[in-house]
Amino acid sequence: MATVSATAQDWDYTDGETAENWSEASPEFAACDTGMMQSPVDIDSMGAYGNIRIAADYGMTDGTLRLGKHQVQIDAAPGQGMVSGDRLFNLVQVHFHTPSEHAMSGERYPLAGHFVHATREGTLGVLGVLFEEGDANEGLQMIIDAMPDGDGANISIDMSSMIPDELEVYRYMGSLTTPPCSENVNWHVVEDTVEASAEQIAAMEAALGMSARSMQPLNNRLVVAPAD
Ligand SMILES: [Zn+2]
Repeated sequence: MATVSATAQDWDYTDGETAENWSEASPEFAACDTGMMQSPVDIDSMGAYGNIRIAADYGMTDGTLRLGKHQVQIDAAPGQGMVSGDRLFNLVQVHFHTPSEHAMSGERYPLAGHFVHATREGTLGVLGVLFEEGDANEGLQMIIDAMPDGDGANISIDMSSMIPDELEVYRYMGSLTTPPCSENVNWHVVEDTVEASAEQIAAMEAALGMSARSMQPLNNRLVVAPAD
């Protein structure tokens, strides 16, 4: 008798448009295909406008580089984060996707950074930053320079250079974009983009491969857009 034992290798991306059907890899991934609050979404139909106050204090931080299949991630030392509404979200890790998962009016960007946070109670909040091609990005270069050191390498990185100065965000309730696709994630997609050079984007594409989930239906969810 066969037993189902899902590992990270049991699921993969498609072309970013075709449904991944990740629940076929494991019953633990059921939410990926049956959840009604999945991410990413195309941010083009706003249900409301309002200024969500984000206070953030990102700067230099120590971390551990995590490299794997479709994975370039920095596990961050405690001490940085954001206040969204009146809740404190502590930065746990930042990882990347090529191309971006969220789209703005149907347009995906070449690279996205997901800054994953959690409250003391364990509520997840992600700050999603879209990168467009332009000038080289200092923080991204620190990561690219550390990649030859391999998985588990210690890294010191300036988080602030990878986050726009103006933190006007689109906010909605969504999910993790990889299995098990857990929901009740407080998504904050930053309206302003940051720049990365063509060489940096190419380096991230080489490390990550196609790493964007297909767009998920908004269903009855509200997307709150910046008022100004
Ligand atoms: Zn992500």
